[in-house]
Amino acid sequence: MARVELKDVVKTYPGKVTAVHSFTLDIADGEFVVFVGPSGCGKSTTLRMIAGLEEITGGTISIDGRVVNDVHPKDRDIAMVFQNYALYPHMTVRENMALALKLRKVPKEEIARRVGEAARMLGLEPYLDRKPKALSGGQRQRVAVGRAIVREPKAFLFDEPLSNLDAKLRITTRAELKALHARLKTTTVYVTHDQEEAMTLGDRIVVMSAGRIQQVAPPLVVYRRPVNRFVAAFVGTPPMNFIPGSLAREGGSVMFTENGPGGARLRLPGEMSAKLASVSGAVTLGLRPQALHAAPAPGREPISVSVSVTEPLGDAVDCTCTTAAGTRLVARVDAMADVHPGRNATLHADLAHAHVFAEGEFGANLTL
Ligand code: ADP
Repeated sequence: MARVELKDVVKTYPGKVTAVHSFTLDIADGEFVVFVGPSGCGKSTTLRMIAGLEEITGGTISIDGRVVNDVHPKDRDIAMVFQNYALYPHMTVRENMALALKLRKVPKEEIARRVGEAARMLGLEPYLDRKPKALSGGQRQRVAVGRAIVREPKAFLFDEPLSNLDAKLRITTRAELKALHARLKTTTVYVTHDQEEAMTLGDRIVVMSAGRIQQVAPPLVVYRRPVNRFVAAFVGTPPMNFIPGSLAREGGSVMFTENGPGGARLRLPGEMSAKLASVSGAVTLGLRPQALHAAPAPGREPISVSVSVTEPLGDAVDCTCTTAAGTRLVARVDAMADVHPGRNATLHADLAHAHVFAEGEFGANLTL
């Protein structure tokens, strides 16, 4: 087990592409940290620098207090599982799992013990003598994880390990990985572009954009208290709605007015109004689809919309609609709600769960 520290880590590729800017993060011993962000934001590059597969342009990476910038990957005692887990086709599952230990000249009995234990943990015992081609995608993926486990490394690094699996298998394998971590408690860094995977797996998630960390926090903190509009937009399904508008004081509270003719006017709750006391002018209101209801209730503010699409999900309906001023919204309303494509409706916004952001894609959350 290990503590992994990254301090001001920079990666500039030849041709002056800076893929990672001053990345600082302290990963605790036993922690499960997920790097998440859109494709090209520098997740894999950062992971590969921890593994030693990519040279570091600036800063330091330490494992258990020892700077490893110049330590060879195989001497870092870290095991990596990739998306393309390339098992050796001519070897059995047992041989695939044993290979790294054999190359390290680990005694035979010890190899048998570790492979046996990993196979038991991963439910691979019945397949130990099969070749990879006689396994399903999910089983092959488990062999790749098994190959990493038998090494008993200080840390696991996963690079999109589930992206080759179909949707259903991704969800079950994700749960298996979580259970495995609970059992082994090995420090884990996991890269994914899938926010749901990040939310469900991580003790903490690191949301990245264009080579920079946007927020580091436990999943529910990122969901409930996104530091800026980018994070708010990236985490949560369906994505958060953003309404452009402005703030003005009115009586004792703050009023949000949507831009455009006939824009919605929403009175912000007292506590939020107090936080926004010194803010005026153009802002963006963020409302999750789950905060837009079909039924009125105390504290909810009405918004008139015209409904264009309804998507029944069983227990709820996703309703795509447009405000009078032209903002597109998605509301996740009750399955029995009276919303129909082509008709008008009134949504009721729970503003206690709203956020107000400064303008722009990375506008700060002013309601924290
Ligand atoms: P992610 O894993 O988040 O999709 P990457 O870390 O793979 O992102 O890439 C980050 C940025 O670095 C991208 O702009 C990518 O094009 C660039 N990049 C990655 N590898 C190389 C390379 N070997 N040479 C030059 N640029 C690279």
